[in-house]
Amino acid sequence: MKEDFIRYGLEGAFIPLDELIEENAPNLKAFFDSHKEIRNAISGPDGKLYFIPYVPDGKFSRGWFIRQDWLDKLGLKQPETPEEVYEVLKAFRDKDPNGNGLKDEVPYFAREEIDAVRLINLWDARVSGSERYGDFAVYDGQLRHPWAEENYKTGISNVAKWYKEGLIDKEIFTRGARSREYLLGNNLGGMTHDWFASTSTYNDALSPKIEGFALKPMLPPKTVSGQRFEDSRRLRVQPVGWAISATNEHPVETIKYFDFWFSQQGRILSNFGVEGLTYEMVDGKPQFKKEILDNKDPVNAQLWAVGAAIPRGYWMDYEYERQWTNKIALEGIDLYEKCNCLKDEFMGVSLNAEEKATFDRYWPSILTYMTEMQQTWILGAQDVDTGWDAYKKRLTALGYDEVIKMMQSAYDRQYKAAQ
Ligand code: CA
Repeated sequence: MKEDFIRYGLEGAFIPLDELIEENAPNLKAFFDSHKEIRNAISGPDGKLYFIPYVPDGKFSRGWFIRQDWLDKLGLKQPETPEEVYEVLKAFRDKDPNGNGLKDEVPYFAREEIDAVRLINLWDARVSGSERYGDFAVYDGQLRHPWAEENYKTGISNVAKWYKEGLIDKEIFTRGARSREYLLGNNLGGMTHDWFASTSTYNDALSPKIEGFALKPMLPPKTVSGQRFEDSRRLRVQPVGWAISATNEHPVETIKYFDFWFSQQGRILSNFGVEGLTYEMVDGKPQFKKEILDNKDPVNAQLWAVGAAIPRGYWMDYEYERQWTNKIALEGIDLYEKCNCLKDEFMGVSLNAEEKATFDRYWPSILTYMTEMQQTWILGAQDVDTGWDAYKKRLTALGYDEVIKMMQSAYDRQYKAAQ
C-alpha cells in the first residue's frame, strides 16, 4: 500500500502528516526522530509523510538449516565453504543417511523461489536486495540488480551444475509450499534455507516419529572469496499502515489516535492484547498467559481475534514473538546475531510520476525475463556460459540501463540528502 498512499497523497486524496505529527503526536515524533532511516524510506518524493506504517521488530527472518543427525551419522561437520557444502550434499545423496537402503534423499530443498536459488550466494552473488524476491540491491552506494551481476553468472552456473548432479531437489520450482512438510516428514530432505521460527518447530513435530531427528540452524557457509553473509532479513518497515483522507474533518484527533499506538501503553496493547485476558504484567513486563501460549491456536491468531497484532500503523515488539518461539530457533537467531553478517537491506525508493512511468514501462518485462532465464539455466535447458552475453544484451534492449539510472537518481534524492 505504500505506493498507493504516496500516489494518492501527491494527488491530494491523503493529507501530509508532518505538521500534524510535529504539533500533536509526541510518540510518533520521538519514533521518527530516532528512526530517521524509516521516515526516509516511507516519505514521498516531495519528502512528506503520507502514512503511518507497521514497523516490524527483530532482525532475522530466515537462516540455513541442516540435518545435524545425518552429519553425525556420516562423520561430517557443518559445511564452512562452497566445497564443503558440495561434499556434504554429495554424501547426503550417496550415503543413505536415512538408512532405508534407497538412494531417495533430497540433499538441498526449499519451499519458496527465493530460497530455491539461495545457493548462488556461495559464489558472492545475491539472491535479493531485501526480503522481497527479485529486489534491487545497493553495492557501495550504487544501485543495481543482483541478477545482472558477474557473480550471478558464476553462481547460477554452479547451481545448475549441482541441480544436474541431483544435489538440489528436482522439483524445487514446482513442489511448492508443502515441500518442507513432505521432505522432512518423510525423512528425505537434508538442508534448506527457511524461516527460523516455523522451521525449528519440525524438531518438536518429528523427533517422536523419526529417530534422532535433529534439524539444526547453521551459519551461512563462507563464500568462494571467504565472506560470510546472510541476505535475508526482516523488513525494517512494512509498506502497509494507515493514512488520513482529505475529507477527514478531525485530522488532529486522528493523528492523536495514531500516536496512541506508538505510546508505551499502545505498544503493549497492540503487541500483547488485553491485560488479564491475554497477558499479565510480571516484573513490569508483559508476559503472555500460559493458556494463550499453550492454546491449540497460534498466539498471533489469538491476538488477531482481539484486534491486536494487526498490520496497521503500529510498532511491533520482538518480545511478543520471542515468548512463543522455540528454543532451537532462538539458538539459531543468537548464532546469527553473534555472526553480525547480515547484509544491509535495500529499503526501496519513492518514485515521482515520471520515474514511476519509466519503471512501469520497462521493469515488469525485465523481471519476467530474468526469472524465466533463471529457471531455464537451473533446469539445464540452456548453458549459462553460452547464453550469458545474449542475456545481458537482452536486458539492455529491454531497458535495464534506463531503469537503473532512474532508480539511482531516486535513490540519491531519497538517501544521500538525508546523510
Ligand atoms: Ca535413503
